[in-house]
Formats: sequence, structure tokens, C-alpha cells
Amino acid sequence: MFADLHLHTNFSDGTYTPEELTGHGRRLGFAALALTDHDTMEGCARMAVACATAGIEFIPASEFTAEHENIELHLLGYFLDTTHPRLLSELAKFQIVRQQRIREMVARLNALGIPLAAEAVFALANCAAPGRPHVARALVQAKQCATLDEAFDRFLKKGKPAWVPKFKISAPDAIALIHEAGGLAVLAHPALNKSDHIIPALVAAGMDGIECFHSRHSTATNEHYLMIADQYHLLVTGGSDCHGMNKGKPLIGTVKLPYSHVQQMKDLLARRATAGGGKLVNPAPRS
Ligand code: AMP
Ligand code: ZN
Ligand code: FE
Ligand code: FE
Repeated sequence: MFADLHLHTNFSDGTYTPEELTGHGRRLGFAALALTDHDTMEGCARMAVACATAGIEFIPASEFTAEHENIELHLLGYFLDTTHPRLLSELAKFQIVRQQRIREMVARLNALGIPLAAEAVFALANCAAPGRPHVARALVQAKQCATLDEAFDRFLKKGKPAWVPKFKISAPDAIALIHEAGGLAVLAHPALNKSDHIIPALVAAGMDGIECFHSRHSTATNEHYLMIADQYHLLVTGGSDCHGMNKGKPLIGTVKLPYSHVQQMKDLLARRATAGGGKLVNPAPRS
């Protein structure tokens, strides 16, 4: 039994619908899937129905862009209450900021002489949480760039002329919000963010787990983060971070997390519920 706990749909910057993604999950034999769209949980309702129909366990989740000591990091919130009022109002704020950021990126492109309308990006994105991939797709659609890579390389990568920094929630605030909404907070793809030195501070802020397995982690990287998870008594998670097709194949299926890790997540939530929602103190790290 395997799980993929890092997946995006077209409710953020993925290309598959929840039904298409679930169809791939079923074909690949997954027992559990988590939907981790950026700054939105609007795809969770449809994904839950699709998974129930396919006999797959569904975990409602989201991926938050956070920062700590000027380091950008992504935090995954799992088993979130999709009706939690403060979580929904915070997500709504992130979505408004994302939409403003699209307008700023388009204004920068226009200033560079690239004709593009923000409305064209919004129409193409057709979701509450638009991002740079949608701007890139709009540039390709408008024949201003030949490929998505060209759009990122010329305009959208950090430091390029149409790049606009993204709003980031502080990591302790994100962890507290995830806990308030009944969830578990997990550091996403740590190898992509050079964030090892802040892991102790994240653990002190209550972080529950580390995404040791990720499609862009090497075997050595997996091992490295498994050791860190063991040292700090953290949950181990993993996922493909599938946004759709990658090199001619769906990225889902490239990471298969043994289901026992999902069980450990549920066991921790059950212990927390028994403790009356109170914070369980993690044991001291192993030296
Ligand atoms: P945003 O959240 O708007 O900053 O966009 C980040 C997303 O852009 C990531 O989740 C990636 O899927 C995508 N992305 C980042 N860099 C590139 C790139 N060089 N080529 C294609 N997609 C990229
Ligand atoms: Zn993404
Ligand atoms: Fe991420
Ligand atoms: Fe992701």
C-alpha cells in the first residue's frame, strides 16, 4: 500500500483536474492521495468525491509559501479542516495577493514591450490561486515565448525583469494556523530550499514532519532527511509534487510512500485529540 502526499491540480498551477489526477492515482494503485494545491483547498471537494468513487483514501491539504530568517520554505498542511473559518479567511487573503502579483508581473511585461492582458492570464488560470506558471502559459499562448522554460528564463525566474516576489507567511504563523485547523505541518522538499539550518527553529515552532521523499530529491538526499527526521522525532512524508506531465509522462507515480507513514500521521492526530487538542511536547532531539 502506497501514498502520494504532494499533488497539484488545476485549482492551482497543476494541469490535471481532480478527476484526472485521481484517475492516474487509481491506475497506479495508490491507496491514499493528498491534494496540496498552493494557497487553496477549493479542489478538495471534487477530489474527495473522485477518490471515494475510486476506493482511494483522500487527505485534504494545502501547500503554504512561508519564510523564516529570510529563507523561503514551503509548508504542507495535512488533514486540514476544509471548513475552518480562519484557515479559509487566510487562504482568501493569499489568493487576493496572488491576483495582485499577476497584475504586477503583467505590468512589468507591458513595460518591457510585451503585450499581455492580466485578464488573459486570469482566464487561462481559471482558479483562485494563479501563479507564475499561468503567466508563462499565457506568454506561450500569446506567442511571445516559444516554451514555458523560455518564459521563466527570460522573464519570470527570480531576478528576471518580470519577477515579483511572492507574499510569504512566517513559518511559525503557518504552523500555528495548520494546527488550529486540525492539521499536521510538514516541511516540503527541504533539499530545494537550503533550509537545513532552520529545521531546529521549525521544530521548536511545532513542525510535525519532513517530506523526505520527493521527485527532485536524490537517494542520498532522502537518506539525509530520514536521519534528520529520526533525530528530531518527526513524521516522514513523501510525494511526487505532480503538476501534470513531466518529460512526456505524468509525474504522479514517481514517488511511492509506504502507507505506514500515513498511519503514523493519523496516530499522531489521534494522540493529539486524546490530549484534548493540547500541544504534545516532542522529546528532546537525539544527539
Ligand atoms: P509561484 O508560486 O507563482 O511563484 O510559481 C511557482 C511554481 O512555478 C512552482 O510550483 C513551479 O511549478 C513553477 N516553476 C518554477 N520555476 C519554473 C521553471 N523554471 N520552469 C517551469 N516552471 C517553474
Ligand atoms: Zn506549483
Ligand atoms: Fe513547493
Ligand atoms: Fe508543490
